[in-house]
Amino acid sequence: MHPDASWGPLAGSARDAALAVLLHGPISRGELAQRLDLTPGTVTRLTRPLIDGGLLVARGKRRTPAAGRPFEPLDIAADSRHFAGVKITATAVYAVVTDLRARPLGAATRAMGSTAPESVAELVAATVRAAAEAAGGPELAAAGVGLGGNVTGDPGHVYATFLGWADVAIAPMIAELLGVPTVATNDVAALVRAAQWFGMARDLDSFAMLTVGAGVGYGCVIHGEPVEPRVELARVSHLPIDPLGPLCDEGHRGCATALLAETSIRRQLSGALGRDVGYDEALDLAAAGQPAARAVISASARALGTLAGYAAVLTGCEHVMLSGEGVRIAEVAPDDVHAGIRSVLHGDADAIDLRIEHAPFEEWARGAAVRAIQTYVLGEGAHAPLG
Ligand SMILES: [Zn+2]
Repeated sequence: MHPDASWGPLAGSARDAALAVLLHGPISRGELAQRLDLTPGTVTRLTRPLIDGGLLVARGKRRTPAAGRPFEPLDIAADSRHFAGVKITATAVYAVVTDLRARPLGAATRAMGSTAPESVAELVAATVRAAAEAAGGPELAAAGVGLGGNVTGDPGHVYATFLGWADVAIAPMIAELLGVPTVATNDVAALVRAAQWFGMARDLDSFAMLTVGAGVGYGCVIHGEPVEPRVELARVSHLPIDPLGPLCDEGHRGCATALLAETSIRRQLSGALGRDVGYDEALDLAAAGQPAARAVISASARALGTLAGYAAVLTGCEHVMLSGEGVRIAEVAPDDVHAGIRSVLHGDADAIDLRIEHAPFEEWARGAAVRAIQTYVLGEGAHAPLG
């Protein structure tokens, strides 16, 4: 392991300082003091041990154009530690290895075999090792594993119906195989934080995110703090949208999943055309104007707009991100998305700042690496420090 464990996980003002440098560096001590509402002296005292510990570095002296005193901006030592991020889907495991800024340095993919937890843990470890090799073989400090499901407690009890898992503590199994601390996370929660820190939402104090693909995901950030949905109240993925819509696998008529999820779209269109239709093909056919595909994707896009409208109204925030492998729905049928928004906002679709981000599975994996950085460097949640 790393010889110097004098940082991570951090707490209090030191954490805030490290996070500000991570997100905004290189940054002068004066600007940092301003951002944190601290005196420059306090900032110098806070950051010295982080520099000594190798988390922060002072870049070469710079002078402002006004030729004031020269200053040394602080920056994160991005290559001082490396992290693995993993996304598990029903058909494959995706892994990336990143630096401290969550920049991907290497990636690997392995097809899913058995969904037994022991087999998946071994597949995850093998995929991470392949990604590390592709990244030039850095030593890993920690790993994050994201998947569609509910993750509660520490070390993380995973409930994931797409894998047939109920209360599986997958993170300790992977940690044992990789020899590094590992955290499991809901994949949308990880993608939300990645967007907030390093992605399309980095300029936003508050936003909501909807993801569409194999399932429907939701998360939001309010005044800088991520808020995870309370699945014990209700799942956003199964909220009722259209009382005349198709059925989901759980028997809800016209819920978000019934209208938006990949299997539902495929099932509807395969039924209409009398042959097996793939997800991408359904979107291609709709884009080409094929009437049956057009009808199915129209209803999907309208449902997506309706959900986006509700997300904005209920979070009190006009910024709504759309992501996931099915986000093409919004590009194939933008008018229907807007019709859905208008149905909620009484006609004013422009009141919402809708941002579409294509997130390939490597981006989801990167989100899980961000979760590992949050947990083991920035001390979010109660976890043992890195050794
Ligand atoms: Zn449902």
